[in-house]
Amino acid sequence: MVTSSESAVPPGLPSFYGLTRAALAARLAEQGLPSYRADQVFSWVYRKHHRTPEGMANLPAVLRDRFGTLCALERPAFASTQASSDGQTHKFVLTLADGARVECVSMRTERRLTFCVSSQVGCALGCTFCATGLMGLQRNLGSAEIVAQVIAMGDFHAWKDDRFNIVFMGMGEPLANYGPMMEAIRILHDPLGLNLGARRITVSTSGVVPQIARLADEGLPLGLAVSLHATTDELRDRLVPINRRWPIAPLIAAARDYGRKSGRRVTLEYTLLAGVNDRDEDALRLGALARDLPSKINLIAYNPVPGLDWKRPTREAVDAFAKRLWPIAPAVTVRHTMGGEIWAACGQLGGLSPAA
Ligand code: SAH
Ligand code: SF4
Repeated sequence: MVTSSESAVPPGLPSFYGLTRAALAARLAEQGLPSYRADQVFSWVYRKHHRTPEGMANLPAVLRDRFGTLCALERPAFASTQASSDGQTHKFVLTLADGARVECVSMRTERRLTFCVSSQVGCALGCTFCATGLMGLQRNLGSAEIVAQVIAMGDFHAWKDDRFNIVFMGMGEPLANYGPMMEAIRILHDPLGLNLGARRITVSTSGVVPQIARLADEGLPLGLAVSLHATTDELRDRLVPINRRWPIAPLIAAARDYGRKSGRRVTLEYTLLAGVNDRDEDALRLGALARDLPSKINLIAYNPVPGLDWKRPTREAVDAFAKRLWPIAPAVTVRHTMGGEIWAACGQLGGLSPAA
């Protein structure tokens, strides 16, 4: 059940969605309330999907009445919602308390529902084929604003799916906003909350090497995706400028270490730009890099971004590149682009609309 309402969070009050259960219990303790009350509230909000305290029947009336002074349960409002023509992909724009807008996307495949969330408004890293990169960084998101994207999309889909995945592949570089990202993951992971398994959460990074090492030490089997896109430093320096700071060799070493510590294969994301990184020798080098660690390659055809001149390879060219990889790489998948017509596909989140 989804009760009421969405609106901007009142200033000065912490948002519920940024509180771990322990932090909520601490706030309740200040009011003389026992910690199991936090467990009950988590269950109402994350399991029964109540968005106001009124219906939380097993809470004492005094707590329901005072709830609004402890934290804000309102979640950000939808500024817009767009559906792809097949109804499988939705792009949402949420308005945050300070008026900033953040985009997130839900994608349904035959197997599952995936929520693609943003970690920042814009991005400072300026990858040369990405719409978010063109915006520059407006600001980091707080943990509440990350969790609230999941809540908003779940509410939209009425929580009909008992299982869903989360990928940090929306706007921004999650490892450049490490603390709030991890806090959001802990809240989503809480067994008395949404209870989302770490294996269902994937963090995608363009290569913030020291933070990959930090993530490896969290002891959670989170999925890691590394946005590689090039197999020589010379080309990657141009496509993914953070490569000038952390080149391919240390990046692959960090990814290998992550794979070893987490017990998970690392996804190497490779956006194909026609005539730039889709030649035979690129495939050979990519296969060799992929063999260097427990990995799978995910090929994505470049999604057009207005104002940028890169060319999307044909479907045949993408298949031919994949075929070259099959005998030499541990695993290869081709990501079928979803949501291109509503500017919801990878790299297209940046304030674009169908009319743009
Ligand atoms: N900042 C993170 C996560 C967000 S981007 C990262 O860079 O990994 C999600 C994926 O889409 C990344 O692999 C990114 O490189 C890729 N991408 C960016 N722009 C794209 C575009 N125009 N077409 C296809 N993929 C793109
Ligand atoms: Fe930022 Fe990722 Fe886009 Fe690069 S690809 S500009 S890191 S969001």
